[in-house]
Amino acid sequence: MDDCIIIGAGPAGLTAAIYLARFHLSIRLFDSGSSRAAMIPCTHNHAGYPEGIAGKELLRLMLAQAERYGAVREPVKVIAIERDGDDFVVRTDHGTYPARTVLLATGVVNHRPAGLLPEVHDPALERGLLRYCPICDGYEVTDRRVGVIGTGDHGMREALFLRGYTRDVTLIAPEAGHELDDSCARALDEAGIARVDGPCGGWAIEGAQLALDTAGGRMAFDSIYPALGSRIRSHLAVAAGARANDEGCLEVDDHQRTSIPGLFAAGDVVKGLDQISHAMGEAGVAATTIRNLLDQRRPIRR
Ligand SMILES: Cc1cc2nc3c(=O)[nH]c(=O)nc-3n(C[C@H](O)[C@H](O)[C@H](O)COP(=O)(O)OP(=O)(O)OC[C@H]3O[C@@H](n4cnc5c(N)ncnc54)[C@H](O)[C@@H]3O)c2cc1C
Repeated sequence: MDDCIIIGAGPAGLTAAIYLARFHLSIRLFDSGSSRAAMIPCTHNHAGYPEGIAGKELLRLMLAQAERYGAVREPVKVIAIERDGDDFVVRTDHGTYPARTVLLATGVVNHRPAGLLPEVHDPALERGLLRYCPICDGYEVTDRRVGVIGTGDHGMREALFLRGYTRDVTLIAPEAGHELDDSCARALDEAGIARVDGPCGGWAIEGAQLALDTAGGRMAFDSIYPALGSRIRSHLAVAAGARANDEGCLEVDDHQRTSIPGLFAAGDVVKGLDQISHAMGEAGVAATTIRNLLDQRRPIRR
């Protein structure tokens, strides 16, 4: 039986793997290979890399560090977590594995605009014409022409956040008309944020801009941010009985413990900042708590 099975090898899971392997614990690291960090062309807000670093390269370096201490990333999809007394059974598409503890670091998946096909989406993302994280890269759109696909409270908040970087922000409704209450509409007006109705379509890279059709005609922007929410990959823990909020984010305490003893969670799958630094910090806390829990059950000695 392993001391811990980590599900997910993004920044959270890899940080936990480094810590747990260096605690001399036996771990498995299962990963289905779709880290959000792998989508980052170059992050400039992750401390320690003054020139920035590509998400894939950061993941490669973190995995190399974990491997140095014996961790192995297994390309395996986990399909269920089951409780077995104080322990767990983790079912995967490659077999079933027992573990004393489990750390869920499965992240989230951003909703993409309807009709934005991969052949436009992927190069647009690579070139910074499409962006998903204003906290991460709002700086890069300073004084640029920015579109936000969204509406309601969420769309308003994202547009207002980006207004801190540029005067030229347009909020575009994804489907048809905007769904904005009076206070949202007023806040947008006061900030000078233009509003355009959808539906959005006809996505194409045109020169150095990303263009789309709207109810107000064809428009082009230096960068477009979808503000359409995300799917939280917490279903494995929720199916096992862990508590989550209405959005699906797992509830954890200050030590990253879910409501199921022995089941921990870190990173985007937990309500938080959805940033690499935050995922790493939570994973360090989770890993140390896991180590201390196992030590209480059976003292760790060499
Ligand atoms: C375009 C973009 C740009 C970004 N830029 C920045 C930035 O500049 N700075 C910053 O701090 N943050 C940035 N972020 C956010 C950052 O990528 C995330 O906060 C970070 O990746 C979260 O790490 P995580 O380990 O929680 O989840 P993830 O990195 O998403 O990793 C989760 C892992 O779990 C695996 N998994 C899921 N389900 C299963 C399963 N059932 N079985 C096995 N494995 C599973 C997935 O395959 C994945 O590898 C950006 C995000 C995007 C999309």
